[in-house]
Amino acid sequence: MSVRHEDYDLVVVGAGNAALSSAIAAKEEGLNVLVLEKGPKEKRGGNSFFTDGAIRFAYEDMNTLASILSGITKDDIKDIEMPEYRSEDYYDDIMRLTQGKSEPALAKQLVSKSLETISWMRDQGVEFQLNENQRFEKDGKYIFWGGLPVKTKQKGIGLIETLNQRMEVLGIEVLYSTRAIKIDTQEDRVKAVIVQQDGHEKRIPTKAVVLACGGFEASKEKRKKHMGSEWENAVVRGSEYNTGDGLDMALAVGAVPYGDWSGCHAHTTDYGSPRVGDYSKPGDIYKKSSYPLGLIVNIKAERFVDEGADFRNYTYAKYGKETLKQPEQKAFQLFDSQVRPMLREEYNLEEATYVKADTITELAKKMDVDPKALEKTVMKYNDVVQEGTYNPSIKDGKGTTGITPPKSNWALKFDHPPFYAYPVTCGITFTFGGIHVNNMGAVLDKNENPIAGLFAAGEMVGGLFFDNYPGGSGLMSGAVFGRLAGCSAADYVNKSTAKQ
Ligand SMILES: Cc1cc2nc3c(=O)[nH]c(=O)nc-3n(C[C@H](O)[C@H](O)[C@H](O)COP(=O)(O)OP(=O)(O)OC[C@H]3O[C@@H](n4cnc5c(N)ncnc54)[C@H](O)[C@@H]3O)c2cc1C
Repeated sequence: MSVRHEDYDLVVVGAGNAALSSAIAAKEEGLNVLVLEKGPKEKRGGNSFFTDGAIRFAYEDMNTLASILSGITKDDIKDIEMPEYRSEDYYDDIMRLTQGKSEPALAKQLVSKSLETISWMRDQGVEFQLNENQRFEKDGKYIFWGGLPVKTKQKGIGLIETLNQRMEVLGIEVLYSTRAIKIDTQEDRVKAVIVQQDGHEKRIPTKAVVLACGGFEASKEKRKKHMGSEWENAVVRGSEYNTGDGLDMALAVGAVPYGDWSGCHAHTTDYGSPRVGDYSKPGDIYKKSSYPLGLIVNIKAERFVDEGADFRNYTYAKYGKETLKQPEQKAFQLFDSQVRPMLREEYNLEEATYVKADTITELAKKMDVDPKALEKTVMKYNDVVQEGTYNPSIKDGKGTTGITPPKSNWALKFDHPPFYAYPVTCGITFTFGGIHVNNMGAVLDKNENPIAGLFAAGEMVGGLFFDNYPGGSGLMSGAVFGRLAGCSAADYVNKSTAKQ
């Protein structure tokens, strides 16, 4: 499809969750909106497409959730124990995991608008379900943990499909295989976007722009420049198109770098996973998230993290990085037959690679690590596992003493054969460094003044996440700030038009 010769009110750059939320919100406010997407239609949806659809929002109790969830009955609810997760809990989680560095105004906005935005998404047709991998069964009850009990129906694929259906209903035009490369400003106001399409450059006039085109996780060069040379080797878990174009474009018109440019979200991913997200095998199928139930060792058979420091939702985003620091960027997640039945679904997929053996020596040989070293590590660990009641639904405090690193919760002796080893490496999810925006999504210059007509959302928002992040906040941030950026753009366009 070629560019129509007309002035748009708003051009939204990107077609992931944040961008589509912006486009829909702006269209609802009456703007004439165009969406630009770098990838072809068959690869649409950005990182959002690859997600599990797990989405974190503040809620009071199971009744609040029931009003959001599709097709849930009283019968479904009766055996569920659902801890409350209020705004204070969400805010505290963000601050705790970012060591207090998250910008309070942005974090508060994300938290306070989360439930309202979930309702808005539902009104757009997005369906939500309980997230089964966030619960354990005990005495006939399903006990949820970790503040992340909800996911979108059919994960990221369902989310992107539904938002695109809504775009069609609203008549919002999308140009695929169209890469935005520059924002044209005159007298410090946005006037147009320059794009590359079919090998040609074109200028698309517009009154406002929302940049929602991801971080720089898919750029080897930028990862190396901002995060260190070891990051060249990271597997890219999602979109190949998020190469930092939006950040470059924004910085070129006076936006300022903001937040943790040397930090990112990185998870452990199957050692055999593809080097970038594979659209033919959609979904988050290569991750390996059940390590709190087991042990993790590197190729020297040494443990290097506290596997049970916290629930998976609060450690997984940083343990990928720890794996990158290991020799050959490789580690193994180890489980014995006591915990193997409790592992998440990704361990049962045909894509999961693993070795299995009846003795530690045999397992080590299959892992290609020194059997004596693995036996020593396991023995050292087994010797210091403390008594206590094992309960994976809570931080049970059943840990180790006197070893470094400790295992702080869920420590069981590793002694029930057969034993399993899953090889993993580091997969980068998205970068934390972005540009400075205010809590309404307006892009700010070095004097903290809005750049007239420029807005941003999603991974491009700097200052929210540092070092770590509470799982499920990426989609929520995209939806909250995407919607706000779309509404702010509408406000800006309507006010500018009224002045003329
Ligand atoms: C495997 C995986 C699993 C994940 N699981 C979860 C989860 O369960 N829950 C959660 O909250 N988060 C999850 N995340 C993180 C989440 O995907 C992101 O935080 C969020 O989706 C980012 O949304 P976005 O709209 O900012 O970016 P994206 O969804 O990546 O969209 C950016 C879009 O911009 C396009 N683009 C880039 N450059 C240009 C350009 N120059 N011109 C035009 N278009 C351009 C890209 O092609 C892409 O379509 C996961 C990520 C991955 C990779």
